[in-house]
Amino acid sequence: MFSQSLLPYNTFGLDVSTEEIYPVEDLISLHQFWISRRWENRPWHILGGGSNVLITDNLAGTVLLNRIRGKREIAREGNQIWIEFGGGENWHDAVMWAVEKGYGGLENMSLIPGTVGAAPIQNIGAYGVELKDHFVYLDAFCWETGTQVRFERSACEFGYRDSIFKRWAKGKYFITHICLQLELQPKVNTQYGDIASTLQSWGIQNPSIEEVSRAVIHIRQSKLPNPAELGNCGSFFKNPVIPESQFKELQARIPEAKHFPVGAGWVKVPAGWLIEHAGWKGHRAGAVGVHEKQALVLVNYGGAQGKEVIALAQKIQADILQRYGIELEMEVNAW
Ligand SMILES: Cc1cc2nc3c(=O)[nH]c(=O)nc-3n(C[C@H](O)[C@H](O)[C@H](O)COP(=O)(O)OP(=O)(O)OC[C@H]3O[C@@H](n4cnc5c(N)ncnc54)[C@H](O)[C@@H]3O)c2cc1C
Repeated sequence: MFSQSLLPYNTFGLDVSTEEIYPVEDLISLHQFWISRRWENRPWHILGGGSNVLITDNLAGTVLLNRIRGKREIAREGNQIWIEFGGGENWHDAVMWAVEKGYGGLENMSLIPGTVGAAPIQNIGAYGVELKDHFVYLDAFCWETGTQVRFERSACEFGYRDSIFKRWAKGKYFITHICLQLELQPKVNTQYGDIASTLQSWGIQNPSIEEVSRAVIHIRQSKLPNPAELGNCGSFFKNPVIPESQFKELQARIPEAKHFPVGAGWVKVPAGWLIEHAGWKGHRAGAVGVHEKQALVLVNYGGAQGKEVIALAQKIQADILQRYGIELEMEVNAW
């Protein structure tokens, strides 16, 4: 029954299977799937690059792989250019393409795994830039009506690792295309993390978007495990945002507590710092563990089972709640 392995399609490297894999190359093949299956009571699931899912067991039904490719210029005016990407394009390849063309805006999000079509789901972001900063619209196939629907930026209600596609619209649409607004005369953003110091160490004063992209790739490769070598899903938990009053209590106990202000009365505490401070960094439980360099990343040392990963995640969540009174929410989509 579960004859199709999903091992090549999830970056955590979980050895699970499904009944059928259906690659979606274009709107016609998606529509055909919908026509042929809509009266059948069989489940289906959408996968892009499988870099933000934890598939804990074999999946009944069909896994649809988003393989819709293509890029096209929609408009340009002044300093702005609008590009529409097929949702099955690889995100990093799309960023590299934009960098090569000299279109600015995406370079800080270099090397994020996955597909373009999944980027709006959790409003991907890195090094001070989020998808929403460049997002114009997305087109999605509605499972209920079998038609294409356009969502403008405001309709997506983007937030920190959040959008309507993680809430009421979850499972209702297949994102087929997204349109991004890029800059023809880019201004670089090197404020965040180690970008400026990395460029400085390379003797670069006025960096181009290509140099910023290279710095981001260099930093990410030195800090994050490569899923091709060690299975993982990137950040496993979201950074908790807590009331300032609660943070003050934490700070009274732990003066060195890391934090970032995020608007009136609220503070973001890095989940990786909490996990490391609680002593979990480098912890190993059988085939799963907390990465030795980055406490926010859970890893598969080989042959891990989904339930082992969930058990470790729950232990960490309970410990952080007990020690600091802070709830950690999973960023990864567990199926
Ligand atoms: C090493 C590593 C580093 C990472 N770094 C970052 C980072 O810096 N910033 C960040 O934000 N994320 C990061 N991530 C997480 C991940 O790369 C992103 O969430 C990415 O957008 C997931 O894309 P995907 O195609 O792999 O999605 P998948 O894992 O295939 O899917 C994720 C979810 O979206 C749904 N979905 C996928 N495609 C569609 C579609 N076309 N229509 C509707 N639903 C869809 C799936 O059903 C699933 O629920 C990292 C992951 C790894 C492994």
